[in-house]
Amino acid sequence: MVRARTIGPDDIVPAGLAEPGRLEEIRRVAEEFAVALTADVAALIDPADPADPIAAQFIPSAAELLTTPDDRPDPIGDERWSPVPGIVHRYADRVLLKPILLCPVYCRFCFRREVVGKSPAMMTREALASAIDYVRDHSAVWEVIVTGGDPFLLAPRRLAEIVRALDQIPHLGVIRFHTRVPIADPGRVEPALVEALAAEKAVYVVVHANHPRELTPSARAAVTRLSRAGIPLLSQTVLLRGVNDDAAVLEALFRGLVAMRVKPYYLHHADLARGTAHFRTGIAAGQRLVRSLRGHISGLCQPTYVLDIPGGYGKVPIAPCAASARTEAGEWNVEDGDGVQHAYPADPQG
Ligand code: SF4
Repeated sequence: MVRARTIGPDDIVPAGLAEPGRLEEIRRVAEEFAVALTADVAALIDPADPADPIAAQFIPSAAELLTTPDDRPDPIGDERWSPVPGIVHRYADRVLLKPILLCPVYCRFCFRREVVGKSPAMMTREALASAIDYVRDHSAVWEVIVTGGDPFLLAPRRLAEIVRALDQIPHLGVIRFHTRVPIADPGRVEPALVEALAAEKAVYVVVHANHPRELTPSARAAVTRLSRAGIPLLSQTVLLRGVNDDAAVLEALFRGLVAMRVKPYYLHHADLARGTAHFRTGIAAGQRLVRSLRGHISGLCQPTYVLDIPGGYGKVPIAPCAASARTEAGEWNVEDGDGVQHAYPADPQG
């Protein structure tokens, strides 16, 4: 299959995806951060809408050149927890493996924007072997999360080598892939790629999707090819101002994903990446959105709202808790989906 041409920074204006007057702005951003989108994503953009939620995610903007005091080059502290190249070992029972730092599209809010799309983009065979040795040598590691960049950009043969190597490590239970490909370049999910994921161990795929318009028939077909191969599918979404900070948009996205057999897993609070302040909602706004979904849509459609604590202190749930102290005697208040409080008895003694 012939791959669709990637749209780079100098192609955006000729492709009609931005006004001609924005070329210089786009070029200035491209000097700082990687810029690319696929034909599939470009087809979703409405250039006549200055607030288009797809364009906001992929078309560079001068706002990215503004740095705030809160911004960080490594917002979730990958570097701090990297014992060998390509591995991040932040939690005892799991590691990230980052064999590639290229993506099919470059999200304007990316938390790894200081490294993705930049050189060196691929791990050497030797470095990858050392990274897999690290996993083999650490028996507490139960899960490997293959991420990047986007591991589905690897040639299926290379992907299969990684899966085979991990599949042979006895103490591993799960191999999990994080990818934007089924949404951004669904034609890439060909039989060879699906076959590359075959393993004795459980292989999970987590798809990154932020807006219901990304759930196209082609994306659905790509996801179906994976689910028909017996691969459980989850999703991750980044909460983004001007893209999906709206209860109706999130509801449509999460329902659409579940209807595609993809279980919404994480709703990420946007990280403090450089030049992304314009995308960030406050935590209170995120909690209001999550609370508004609670009780109104199926639990299947509700991901966990999480924040990666800046500096590498890990991911924590930040959704509002429905239970709060009611009396000094230990009774509780629990809030229903309409915001009404109900009394609940104190905890049993002892
Ligand atoms: S696909 Fe993921 S790693 Fe790649 S640019 Fe988007 S957020 Fe960053």
